[in-house]
Amino acid sequence: MKILSVFKNRCPNCEKGRIFQKESEFVNISIPKMNNTCPSCKFKFMKETGFFYGAMYVSYALTVAEGFIWFILGYFILGLSLMTNFLIITSLAFLLSKFNFKISRTIWIYIFYKQP
Ligand SMILES: [Zn+2]
Repeated sequence: MKILSVFKNRCPNCEKGRIFQKESEFVNISIPKMNNTCPSCKFKFMKETGFFYGAMYVSYALTVAEGFIWFILGYFILGLSLMTNFLIITSLAFLLSKFNFKISRTIWIYIFYKQP
């Protein structure tokens, strides 16, 4: 199941190996470290220098989408003020930044993955 492997940050080739090194998720706010190759099948994640610059566009799109979804929920359904929504969306962007970082790189790897 490809979608599930994206959310679990698994290798596109074998769907077993982790793309990111294991770490504690909650207290740690550092940038997640990637494995250079898949620990399971040796698939190379970084194709060339600067390969992951493009993942920033994916990350941007995700952040905008998350903010938009919250805005619809907070403004139209919960009836919160614009200022409250702004503060919630700002904290949401911060809280989800690590998740977005990982998932955007994983999506980027999957976009350019070709079956060998
Ligand atoms: Zn693999």
